[in-house]
Amino acid sequence: MDLNKLGEFDLIDLIAQRTPGGPGVLRGIGDDAAVLNAGNGQVCLWTVDTLLEGIHFDLAYYGPDDLGVKSLAVNVSDIAAMGGRPLYALLSLGLPSGVREDQVRLFMAGWDETARAYNVSLVGGDTVYSPQGWTVTVTVMGTCPKDRVVYRAGARVGDFIYVTGNLGSSAAGLYLLQHPAITCPEHVRLAVRQAHLRPVARVTAAVSLAESRLVTAMIDISDGLSSDVGHICTASGVGCEIYASHLPVSETVRECARYAQVDPLEWVLNGGEDYELLFTVRPDAAQEIEERLAVIGEQVSCIGRITPLGDGMRLVKGDDKTPLLPRGYDHFKGRGL
Ligand code: ADP
Ligand code: MG
Repeated sequence: MDLNKLGEFDLIDLIAQRTPGGPGVLRGIGDDAAVLNAGNGQVCLWTVDTLLEGIHFDLAYYGPDDLGVKSLAVNVSDIAAMGGRPLYALLSLGLPSGVREDQVRLFMAGWDETARAYNVSLVGGDTVYSPQGWTVTVTVMGTCPKDRVVYRAGARVGDFIYVTGNLGSSAAGLYLLQHPAITCPEHVRLAVRQAHLRPVARVTAAVSLAESRLVTAMIDISDGLSSDVGHICTASGVGCEIYASHLPVSETVRECARYAQVDPLEWVLNGGEDYELLFTVRPDAAQEIEERLAVIGEQVSCIGRITPLGDGMRLVKGDDKTPLLPRGYDHFKGRGL
C-alpha cells in the first residue's frame, strides 16, 4: 500500500510488529518516550525527534536560534509527557552548502538558552553535510521514579480529561507566518509567533502531576488535540467526549482568528505543536489535581471525559455530538507521495 494511504501511525505499527522488547524494556514503541529499567527504582526515559527544513520549519521565518530552541524543547516535552525530568541530549546536525558559521552560532545560542532552562547537558551527537536543507535530530534522555511514570495507556471510563495552558497558539502563529499579508495588532502577532517558534515544554507541571500519582494517562500535544487524545484512547482502549465550550483558547488566539477570518476551533483541535500536557484523572482526584497545579501557578482546564470504547471519540457542541476525527498532523496520510 502507498504510504499516503497507510499514514504515519500504521507505518509505526508495522515497524513495532518487528521489535520484540528486550531485557529491562518496560515500554518500547508506542508512548512519548521509551521507558527502560535503570535499577534503584528509577527508569531511563529516552526519546528522539527530527526537524526537517521544508517539513517542520521554513528558514524564511525561523531564525537558527529559534530552531535551536525548538529542536530541544520538543524532545524535552516528550520526556515531560511521561512525568520525567530531562537530563542529557545528543544533537545530530545535517547542514547544506551555504550555511554560515554565524548561523550555527545562533543555533547554538538558542540551544544553550533552552538547555539551561531545562537543565539538560549536551553530551554528544553527529555533524554531517546535507544535500538538501537543514536536518536537526535530537535525542533526549531523562529519568523518573519507576512508580511515577505516566503512560498513554492508563485512561479508564469515567476519567476526566484535562489540558494545561491554552490551545491553538502555535497553529495561529504558523498561520500568520504563512500569511504575512494578514493585518493584526503587533502584540498579537508576536505572541502567537513566539508560541510557534519557541514552544515551552511543561516539565514543572508534568513532574508535579506524576508525583501526585493521580494521573491515569498523559501525552503532550504535538500532532494536535484530536490526534493526541486519539493516541490516549487507542492505547487505553477507550473512547472520549471533548466539550468544545471547555477548550482553553486565549484572547490573543481569538483575536488572531478574527483578523485571519478563520474558526479558531480548527487551530485548537487540529493545529498541534502546543506542547501542552493532555492527561486523564479519576473524578474523585480532580479537585486535588486542580489545587496542586494552582499552587505552582499552572493553568489547567477540564475539557472532557473518557467514555467506553464503543462510543468512539466525540466532540460535544451544545446539544450536538459529532465524531471527533483525528485530523492532526500526519507525515504521510493524504500527501501526494
Ligand atoms: P511523539 O509525537 O510523541 O514524538 P511519535 O508519534 O513520533 O511520538 O511516535 C509514536 C511512537 O512510535 C513512539 O514511541 C516512537 O518512539 C515510535 N516510533 C516512531 N517512529 C519509529 C521508528 N521509525 N522506529 C521505531 N519506533 C518509532
Ligand atoms: Mg509526544
